[in-house]
Amino acid sequence: MNPETAVVYYDDKKELPRLRGLYPQGDLRYVKDSPDATRLAADAPGTVVFALANEKLQAVTALCRSLRGVSVYVIPGGLGFAAAPLAVDVFKPRLDYVETEITRVCNLNCRGCCDYSNLAQDDEIYYDLDRFTADLTRMKTLFWGIAKIRIMGGEPLLNPRVAEYVETARRIFPDCDLRVVTNGLLLPSVSTDTLRRIGAAGCSFDISNYPPTAKKKKEILAALHSAGVSCNFSVPMRYFFRNLRVTPAGSPAPAFNNCIFTHCHMLGNGRLAPCSFAFCTYRFNRRFGAAYPEDDLFDIYDPALDGWRVIEAFSAPHPFCRYCGSGIIPIRWKGHCPSPQARESDWQIKDTFINTVIAPQLQSAVKKTAVALRAQNQKKN
Ligand code: SF4
Ligand code: SF4
Repeated sequence: MNPETAVVYYDDKKELPRLRGLYPQGDLRYVKDSPDATRLAADAPGTVVFALANEKLQAVTALCRSLRGVSVYVIPGGLGFAAAPLAVDVFKPRLDYVETEITRVCNLNCRGCCDYSNLAQDDEIYYDLDRFTADLTRMKTLFWGIAKIRIMGGEPLLNPRVAEYVETARRIFPDCDLRVVTNGLLLPSVSTDTLRRIGAAGCSFDISNYPPTAKKKKEILAALHSAGVSCNFSVPMRYFFRNLRVTPAGSPAPAFNNCIFTHCHMLGNGRLAPCSFAFCTYRFNRRFGAAYPEDDLFDIYDPALDGWRVIEAFSAPHPFCRYCGSGIIPIRWKGHCPSPQARESDWQIKDTFINTVIAPQLQSAVKKTAVALRAQNQKKN
C-alpha cells in the first residue's frame, strides 16, 4: 500500500484525526453513506481505503470486484479493535453474518429452543476446536471477511475452551464484530482470566435475558465489569415462537419474504446453512422420527464452491423455507424442558386460518420495525 496516494473514504468525522495520522498525504473524503461505483472507478488504479461502518463494507467492497489495478483496504468502523488497515481480496465477497455452536447442549433447556438444544444428543456435545479452526480457515478462502460472528450454543460457556474459540475466530477474521451469545447464568462462575482473554480478543457478550438471567443480572454485570468486558443484554425474553409447518407450503417464497431470520447463517462441522432452522432441524427429526429436509446447506469443502454463489443462494428463497410458517406463533417461555419432556407442538404449527392467514399478515406489518429494533439492540455494547 502507498499511504501517500491513498484515497480514504470515511463516514465518521470523529475518526478524522486518526486517519490523518495513518495517511498524512492521503486524499481523505467524507461520505455520508458510501461512495458510489462511479467515484470508485475514477479512483482506480491506486489505493482505496474504506474507513466505514462495519455493516457497509460488504456492499462497498463488492463494487470493487470489477475494478482493475486497485488495492483495497478496510478499517471497519464501530469495532474499536481493528485499528490497522486490512487488505481485501476483491475477488471474494464478504459474508454478512455467521453463527456457530461450540457446544450443542445447554443448562437451561428452554421449551421450543430455536436450535433444538434441548434435543441434542450425547454424541454432539462440542464443536471440536481443530475442526472449528479448519472450518473458519476454509471460510476465509471463500470470503475475504465476515461482518459478524456469533459464538453460541447451546450454552457456549459450558465449553471450557471458549476463550480459545474466540481467539481463533479473531485471528482468522480480524474484521469481524465478534460476540459470545449466552444465557448468562454461568458468567459469574467463569474465571476472570477467561473473561479477560475474551475481552482482549475484541469480543463482547450478547446476553439473552430470560427470567432466570434477569434475577442474576447484578452478579453477571459485576463479573464482566471486573474483567473489563462489555456486554449487551437483550430485551426481556418471555416468549418463544413456533415456526415449523406440519405440511410444507407449495412455494418457499412467502415464508422467506416474510422471514426475520434470513441473515442467520450457521456454520458447523464443514457445513454452512442459510439459517439455523435449515441447519438444526435434524435434531427434531432424530427425536420425533420426522423427515424434514437436512440437505439445505453447503459443504464448504466442495472444491467447486465459491463465496459469490453462497451469497446468491442465501439471498433468495431456498428449499427449507417451504417448511417454515410465514408468520411465527408465540409460545410462552419455559425453562428446564429436556428432551423426554419436549413435544412436537413446542415447534410445530398446524394449518389453521390464524396460523396461515392472520399471523403472516401481522408479521408482514411488523417485520420492518422488528428488523430495525433488532439491529439497533445488537449494535449496543
Ligand atoms: S438458553 Fe434456551 S434458547 Fe438459548 S440455547 Fe439454551 S435452550 Fe436454547
Ligand atoms: S428456512 Fe427460510 S423462512 Fe425459515 S427461518 Fe430459514 S430463511 Fe427464514
